[in-house]
Amino acid sequence: MKKVIISACLLGEYCRYDGKTKRVNAIVDAYKEYEIIPFCPEAPLFGTPRERISLLASEGKIKVMTEETKQDVTALLEDEIMAFCEKHKKVDAIVLKSKSPSCGNQTTPILDENGNVLEFGDGMATRIFKKKYTQTPFYDETDLE
Ligand code: SF4
Repeated sequence: MKKVIISACLLGEYCRYDGKTKRVNAIVDAYKEYEIIPFCPEAPLFGTPRERISLLASEGKIKVMTEETKQDVTALLEDEIMAFCEKHKKVDAIVLKSKSPSCGNQTTPILDENGNVLEFGDGMATRIFKKKYTQTPFYDETDLE
């Protein structure tokens, strides 16, 4: 059976930072014939609901920072995502939630030190997935609505 990684909030899990979900029925329907692997790196690490995080460009690197308490959680999030990749070495498709600091695919705001949007890029999971799953097609949630 083919396998697809899908952002868990698109599947109806209540794992968003605000405790809500963002289920997209068209995505669930499109992958009826696949083994669906739900993916959410933030909920197990930080709980739900949780403080928002955002991506910050700093000294040529992208950091993941909590918005209110200003904690650098880059390594924590990277480790969680890498561990997921180790468990799921081969998949046939990846569908990700747009604009998320973890899951966004060219839609995530990258901020400067003052909180201004510098550009829109990949979330932290998408950055890692693109290195690990080089043969796998990626879809944004809006591709399948
Ligand atoms: S966008 Fe990604 S990290 Fe955020 S709630 Fe959905 S699955 Fe979790």
